[in-house]
Amino acid sequence: MNPDTSLYLHIPFCAHRCAYCDFNTYAGQESLIPAYVDALIKEINWISNQLPITNYQSTQTIFFGGGTPSLLSGTQIDSVMSALSSAFSVSPDAEITIEANPGTISPAKFDAIRKAGVNRISFGVQSTITEELRMLERSHDFFTVIEAVSAARKAGFNNLNLDLIYALPQQTLQSWQTTVKRILDLQPEHISAYALTLEHGTPFGRWSQRGLLPIPDPDLAADMYEWTMDYLQQSGYEQYEISNWAKQKAKGGGQKADDSAFRLLPSAFVCRHNLQYWRSLPYLGLGAGAHGYANGYRYSNVLRIKTYIERLTNYQLPITHYPLTPATVNQHKQSRKDDISDYMINNLRLVQTGVADSDFRSRFGAGLLDVFPKEIEELVNAGLLERKTSEVFETSEVYRLTRRGRLLGNQVFLRFVG
Ligand code: SF4
Repeated sequence: MNPDTSLYLHIPFCAHRCAYCDFNTYAGQESLIPAYVDALIKEINWISNQLPITNYQSTQTIFFGGGTPSLLSGTQIDSVMSALSSAFSVSPDAEITIEANPGTISPAKFDAIRKAGVNRISFGVQSTITEELRMLERSHDFFTVIEAVSAARKAGFNNLNLDLIYALPQQTLQSWQTTVKRILDLQPEHISAYALTLEHGTPFGRWSQRGLLPIPDPDLAADMYEWTMDYLQQSGYEQYEISNWAKQKAKGGGQKADDSAFRLLPSAFVCRHNLQYWRSLPYLGLGAGAHGYANGYRYSNVLRIKTYIERLTNYQLPITHYPLTPATVNQHKQSRKDDISDYMINNLRLVQTGVADSDFRSRFGAGLLDVFPKEIEELVNAGLLERKTSEVFETSEVYRLTRRGRLLGNQVFLRFVG
């Protein structure tokens, strides 16, 4: 039987292009949204027609990411969901997430997307400090966030993620602490906190190269991260990934599912969709610039919105094969070595469950210490990895990042790059 496949749908529209952002997203092209939604549905149908009937793919998670997917109307989201339900066997308890900017979504739209089947919202909050939000060129303020969370709750959403960014220019430890404390007052089920990265080709990247961006030094960024780990844990949030925390569910309540990624952490409101990535399990990427991993391929779609629409509208192109579509522009057949390297880097991000020897053996037919004896020994001796007996994998031993390893994750991952 094939493993469940997760579905990622990229919605590359934003009202404004923020100076720090390097996502594949475009401002001022909202007039293309109807044609884009039609093209997305064509891509879904294309994939569905390629699947042999015995392969009718079941899915436990769907993620509308962007960009700003909440710019789509409730009707447009509903039509995409209908196409997905016809093309895939969507589990009745699937996690269906949409990313939203606070302030771009009305109470009526919350109701409409809830009715369309979406059951989780990930809000791009980033900060609650007005000056920091202005510097990030975000249009909302903290009161908009409060209103958006309250409207989402009223519409019946009981699984909310709030996304934050730390190590912002001129940010102090105290202003970061204020943001985290305010966010906790909103009682989200899930919190993501990523350090700002200065991406090449963005205005922030250029300003930083010219010394115009007073970003916190690495020690202050590390202090922010360490404080966050301690404070969120004391506040009842389990850190299950380097940058992600989930609230524990009430006993007997919450989500129920038996997909292979989710069963690893069933007691908290973890993001099941992202777990699929971190466990190196298959997912299809649909839409302009989307990436996917399925049937032994990593692949990505054409970036530009108009080209994407054209490719799906007039596909006089050679027939591709699953999971490739007329929108695919890059494909890479994974070697065993690629898969092992990706597996290590992804799974080590999971700070509780780490990399389990039994899971590694069942995927690759060899033990962890057979493949990486020197790397693992050196990282354990350096205090960056620790060996544990897994509660999830029962008898298996697990290697996972230590607290220090979480701060120096990139150094650890580099040891497993092929
Ligand atoms: S709203 Fe989000 S996706 Fe859009 S430009 Fe800003 S940071 Fe990027």
